[in-house]
Amino acid sequence: MEKIGVVGAGIVGLAVARELAARGAEVTVLEKEHRVAAHQTGHNSGVVHAGIYYPPGSLKARLCREGVALLKEYCAEHGLPYEEVGKLVVASTRAERPLLRALAERARANGVPGIAELDGLGLREIEPHAVGVGAVHSPRTAIADFPAVARRLALDVVELGGSVRLAHPVMAIRESVRGVQVMAARRRFTFDRLVVCAGLGTDAVAAMAGRPGEVRIVPFRGEYYALAGAARDLVRGLIYPVPDPRYPFLGVHLTRRVDGEVLVGPNAVLALAYEGYTWRNVRNFGQITRWPGTLRMARHHWRTGVKEIYGSLAKRSFLNAARRYVPELRADDLRRTEGGVRAQAVARDGGLVDDFAVDVQGRVVLVRNAPSPAATSSLAIARHISGIVPALVR
Ligand SMILES: Cc1cc2nc3c(=O)[nH]c(=O)nc-3n(C[C@H](O)[C@H](O)[C@H](O)COP(=O)(O)OP(=O)(O)OC[C@H]3O[C@@H](n4cnc5c(N)ncnc54)[C@H](O)[C@@H]3O)c2cc1C
Repeated sequence: MEKIGVVGAGIVGLAVARELAARGAEVTVLEKEHRVAAHQTGHNSGVVHAGIYYPPGSLKARLCREGVALLKEYCAEHGLPYEEVGKLVVASTRAERPLLRALAERARANGVPGIAELDGLGLREIEPHAVGVGAVHSPRTAIADFPAVARRLALDVVELGGSVRLAHPVMAIRESVRGVQVMAARRRFTFDRLVVCAGLGTDAVAAMAGRPGEVRIVPFRGEYYALAGAARDLVRGLIYPVPDPRYPFLGVHLTRRVDGEVLVGPNAVLALAYEGYTWRNVRNFGQITRWPGTLRMARHHWRTGVKEIYGSLAKRSFLNAARRYVPELRADDLRRTEGGVRAQAVARDGGLVDDFAVDVQGRVVLVRNAPSPAATSSLAIARHISGIVPALVR
């Protein structure tokens, strides 16, 4: 029986571990935190993306569609929340209309079901408190509880004979012809193969494995406000702006969650620590700015960067972004809530890596880029990884 180690108990690592255990491998997940889903998986919008945005033929486009089907089935099988609340991508000016049309075409090319193009009146039938000159409606876009999915995946791994070791930070990796030795929590583990799904910790683990690679993780903090009290009733499902095609983030949106909260956010602010949940944390400043891609990216996107930093400092900027789509909102309706940090791979030339990226060398498989919609796509990413590494499949 092949012994496989997986670094990271986020939704991607756990999905990979479950897939490999189901295929007969002896799997051990090593996670540095005391709980699963402690980072990106536990700090996101909770949207099961339908596949609207991604270039047809990309891994994101394919694995998102496959992932939605697998996730829906998985949630039904395990009694986990999954609600098709629907999404509107709203154009607030006529200038945005051509982008909206292109988005609808892309969504159809990706096989997203039920896509409709609506005018200003049509969109109010879906979201009575929203305004805009037009919208793309995706009625099957859903919301889910990704941390709950991750916890269930961890149980599956154990039921399939594997183990999930929390409080086991991976500190060193040595690869030889006989296997991969991994040091974690003062213990030595020996595996036939190692799959790294370490999110914000990817570069550190890649360096331990002697594979720094040609991209680096740059952390982008995403801050949120939550709607208080009756203001929640102003939003039925998901209301998104037309995204800026030059940028991989979707813009501040309004998102209903499975627990009834409605979030406003996230923005995207360059963080100076991998786990930079607050402004004050600048722990990895040196590492992040030493990568030439970071400064090149900052030069290229400085206008957006300045806007996002202002947004981060000013509640009013969040309010204005939200009021563009739901004008009835007032400052008192917004209260600050917990944010997340995205692990976004950036190339040496400053380009933001758009697609999912998996690197296979020797006995080590490294997930280099798994930003949104990786939570949506996690079960499909797991199948993809099992498929591209034939030795992992019995
Ligand atoms: C603000 C925000 C909003 C988002 N919204 C959505 C959305 O609506 N829909 C969607 O599909 N996606 C969304 N995403 C993206 C999604 O959350 C991520 O793509 C997904 O969670 C990635 O999962 P992961 O397992 O790769 O990473 P993570 O969940 O970050 O897990 C990585 C794990 O590796 C562990 N680790 C790191 N280093 C080590 C080490 N040395 N030893 C042991 N363990 C280690 C970490 O502790 C962590 O638990 C969003 C992300 C953010 C931040």
